Amino acid sequence: MIQLDSGVQYLKGIGPKRAQAFAKLGIKNAGDLLTFFPSQYQDRTRAVPISDAYKLPQCCICGRIGKSHERKLSMGLFLLDIEIFDNTGMAYARFFRKKNPYSKIDVFTSIKKAFEPGKTAYIYGDAKSEIGARYIAVNDYEIADLPDAKPAAFNKIIPVYPATEGLNQKTIREAVKSALDMAAGSYPDISDIIPGFKEISKIKSCDSLWKIHYPDTYEGAERARRAFAMQEFFVLETALALSRNAVKKNPKKQKYEIKKNLLTPFRERLKFEFTKAQKKAINDIFEDMRDIHPMNRMLMGDVGSGKTVVALSAVLLAAENGFQSMIAAPTEILAEQHFLTVSNMLDGLNIKTVLATSSTLKKKSDRENILSGIESGQTQIVIGTHALIEDRVKFKNLALIVVDEQHRFGVMQKYAALDKADNPDILMMTATPIPRALAMTVYGEMDMTVIDELPAGRIPVKTFFAGESAAYNKTIAELKNGGQAYIVYPLIDESDKIVLKSAAVEAEKLSLSYFKDYKVGLLHGKMKPAEKNDIMKKFKNKEFDILISTTVIEVGIDVPNASVMIIQHADRFGLSALHQLRGRIGRGKKQSYCFLVGSVKNEAAAKRLEIMTKTNNGFEIAEEDLRMRGPGELMGTVQHGFPEFKAGDLIKDADIIDFTKDFAKKLVDEDPKLAKKEHSVLKTLINLRYSNHAKLVNVG
Ligand code: ADP
Ligand code: MG
Repeated sequence: MIQLDSGVQYLKGIGPKRAQAFAKLGIKNAGDLLTFFPSQYQDRTRAVPISDAYKLPQCCICGRIGKSHERKLSMGLFLLDIEIFDNTGMAYARFFRKKNPYSKIDVFTSIKKAFEPGKTAYIYGDAKSEIGARYIAVNDYEIADLPDAKPAAFNKIIPVYPATEGLNQKTIREAVKSALDMAAGSYPDISDIIPGFKEISKIKSCDSLWKIHYPDTYEGAERARRAFAMQEFFVLETALALSRNAVKKNPKKQKYEIKKNLLTPFRERLKFEFTKAQKKAINDIFEDMRDIHPMNRMLMGDVGSGKTVVALSAVLLAAENGFQSMIAAPTEILAEQHFLTVSNMLDGLNIKTVLATSSTLKKKSDRENILSGIESGQTQIVIGTHALIEDRVKFKNLALIVVDEQHRFGVMQKYAALDKADNPDILMMTATPIPRALAMTVYGEMDMTVIDELPAGRIPVKTFFAGESAAYNKTIAELKNGGQAYIVYPLIDESDKIVLKSAAVEAEKLSLSYFKDYKVGLLHGKMKPAEKNDIMKKFKNKEFDILISTTVIEVGIDVPNASVMIIQHADRFGLSALHQLRGRIGRGKKQSYCFLVGSVKNEAAAKRLEIMTKTNNGFEIAEEDLRMRGPGELMGTVQHGFPEFKAGDLIKDADIIDFTKDFAKKLVDEDPKLAKKEHSVLKTLINLRYSNHAKLVNVG
């Protein structure tokens, strides 16, 4: 008996060779075939009258077989036209075959044999009319042996599968069909534990599998896809809810009371009011911190949305209660920048902050000083880079870990797993806006707060696609006005050297030509951290008017006086990189300008640049990015090991994700081990689907 885990070679018509070709598609057993969904469909629901067979680019005809005519087209290419009649007229079913012109082999043997005159043929293909005759270049055909026999692959909507070498559509179709026949009925189904939602009727997984492969209508296919996606997302969200619970299993030791002896003075000395979104974020975080379980929260907010002060509020709550905090940043520049900001904001408050990076820890006396301050607990706030992970950094009572721009680390779990603290509260921050739906799956094991508004009074950056000299002239005008500018070049690898301009070479040229009256600084990735810091500091202090750089400035740099950015070879950058770069300007009181310079060679690049000129909203840009690139590639830049979905669609099914997330949470709260009998299938599905994802707990 064929079961879900039976190897595909046990299915009818599949030998070892085809089994190998299927394995290349990741299809090993009958269950895999069931969820190998079509990438599109062919509408073969009805045959058109042959007299109309040229009106659609593709069509289906059905008729009586007549004579065949064979012709040589060129050396090696032959064609066979077969007459097909219905009561409206005649069309030729046309086949092309290659053959060695000196060989005697008849490449049309099997076709001629099948197309027996007098029998009925069903034809699907590309319709053409030529000099008064109609032709269908045959894509698929079927011969009815008896006049009233029902065709297998006609009179219906037919699935078209992503093709692969060694497997044609017919083979794939037959394999899937036989898997459906033999095994669809035993596909795990959880429709009875999911409550009704919207138009998604309670279709059992067996039925949705059938209807995705063989829908009656296109609407029916979409209905079935949504129903299957619902189960798929529900399984994922349950796994994520279990994982969240596992993190929270251990109560923490640290207790916080809102004393306000640091928080209030901090707030009073800020020159601005928190935005509504910042207040909500602070509320969420404080609530987490005061809970008996450790915080595990992701704070997501577009560049410039003001995440730093939110994080600092959390840090001060910890400090008020006598606990130490760590703020980890991905680069030395960013760590130093945080250190400067934080020191400024906390100036005069009785609190000690240190910067711990490989630079500041280099000199022995400094190092001993810094490390002993952290170990004794005299230092309450430690800001640094991954140097903080090192063993020699010991804390007295570390309770809160803030990780900025976590996607840059790719190691956020490392911080979580640190044994520098017992069940610390963890706050991750990211400015890589990803669509909500995607965030809920990627960061699904964390609670999430989104800062979805920018501080009032920000002037949106105006972005243009511009020629180089126009961009330079506009820049000069801004410099005359007291502004500063960034000019950014892509990172260059050897193979690009001839075609692309590089920061180092251009800095030299530009400082002697266009910008000879201005001070030009250069920042690139190969510089030592100390050098980079030095250049950044000088730019911030207005010792340079222009900073020419590679993308090292992408993250976190805050120079409000910079109001122009020129992005060279802008067509080379992805949307999110462009958005991050642009986030460096528009931070001050002046109107800022971003010029995208480049030669656009393909449609995708043109689309990216167009989007950039139209919106400043990081989430909108992320949605577009998702639409253009698909989740797999987008996630590559955010996190690896992201689960793929068979039927689920992160754009179309955002509502389902929302719904299943809430319901999964309820279910797991009520049955944290999925011990109830009615949850056993759910448990099976989680293990089946996610046993390889270390992140998602195995519920055993
Ligand atoms: P990001 O979220 O990109 O890390 P930052 O925390 O660096 O943003 O904040 C960007 C700038 O906005 C900083 O100069 C910060 O002082 C300022 N800022 C933060 N919150 C507000 C606010 N509510 N009103 C005005 N300015 C703010
Ligand atoms: Mg920041």
